Amino acid sequence: MKITLVAGARPNFMKIAPIIREIKKTAIHNPELKYRLVHTGQHYDDTMSGNFFRQLEIPEPNINLCCKGSSQAEQTASIMMGFEKDLILNKPDLVLVVGDVNSTMACTITAKKMNIDTAHVEAGIRSGDMTMPEEINRMITDAISDLYFTTSTMATETLIKENISEDKIHFVGNTMIDTLLQQMKRIQKPSNWSDIDTRIKGYLLLTLHRPSNVDDPIKLQILFDIIHQNAEGYDIIFPIHPRTRKNIETFGIETYDIKMIAPQGYLEFMFLLSNSIGVITDSGGVTEEATVLNIPCITLRNTTERPETVVIGTNELVGDEPLYLAQFMSKMLNGNWKKGGIPEKWDGKAAERIVSIIQDKYANNFQPEKEVEMTETI
Ligand code: UDP
Repeated sequence: MKITLVAGARPNFMKIAPIIREIKKTAIHNPELKYRLVHTGQHYDDTMSGNFFRQLEIPEPNINLCCKGSSQAEQTASIMMGFEKDLILNKPDLVLVVGDVNSTMACTITAKKMNIDTAHVEAGIRSGDMTMPEEINRMITDAISDLYFTTSTMATETLIKENISEDKIHFVGNTMIDTLLQQMKRIQKPSNWSDIDTRIKGYLLLTLHRPSNVDDPIKLQILFDIIHQNAEGYDIIFPIHPRTRKNIETFGIETYDIKMIAPQGYLEFMFLLSNSIGVITDSGGVTEEATVLNIPCITLRNTTERPETVVIGTNELVGDEPLYLAQFMSKMLNGNWKKGGIPEKWDGKAAERIVSIIQDKYANNFQPEKEVEMTETI
């Protein structure tokens, strides 16, 4: 059986790493299980891509599609064009995508139009916010996939409500957490830690990159104002996403004494997160990691596609109401945070379950090779 795995952007790499490790382990006893790794090139530089491959020991991709385009449509089209060629040449039995980035949706559509089965890891999560590009990616991917791997029973229920047949859905846990648990013993200080660590009192970690927070200059400035005004003298460390840096520079945002550092490698980011007093973020992945590490987490969004991080974990949705952000920062800095628990099956074994299910489902798909061709347009 041949599986093509797709990864394109930073949040994909920690989700795909444990799946590749598990496939390699399984292939020792089952050499017919073969994989091909396609990097779409959505994130391309070392800080957002290369470093994650090295730190998480992800093998070199078999191909990088080097997708182009600055708009959503250009990027999606470019990924689809490159991926179609790769599928024609390599004819997999299954395409496996993770998460909710443009590559996830683009590669699912491309494969399905060539009658190739697709599996979606992290299926069924929904924010209900159709202004998020990720929500559209999630819904389209889940509307047409063949196999669904979910991180929660809530995600499974969502898929059932959307009329996906239950035998296609598998609640397996969270591959992002597989990576976290595997890598915790290797976390390391950022290389410029002595510059960062000027005070011993403690620090808050900040990450921001969603268009809803960083594309409007007034909103972005207000966020910095409130965070600065309510930090109670604690340091704020902000590994800054390239998109956010660009906007801060273009808009001339006042960032006060917030310590802006380059995007961190995975091991350094986990060091910063696990040693922080709390994190203020608009990332989905960070809310899951903070939950497992029992670190207080403020999410600067009105909705989340990961409700278990709020109901069970340490996450609080604060939206964009300045008063709430100030109140929650005060709770965080004064140690008045709720106690969190760990969601079911976030136990480091999600990838093991995924590969075992794929093996069972496709046990009969070893040879002969499927005919895969470009379907004609109408
Ligand atoms: N991350 C990292 N370095 C950073 C910021 C984030 O390694 O400087 C990791 C972290 O594990 C996080 C993941 O990247 O969970 C996803 O980040 P991002 O916010 O880009 O994506 P999202 O979760 O919002 O889809």
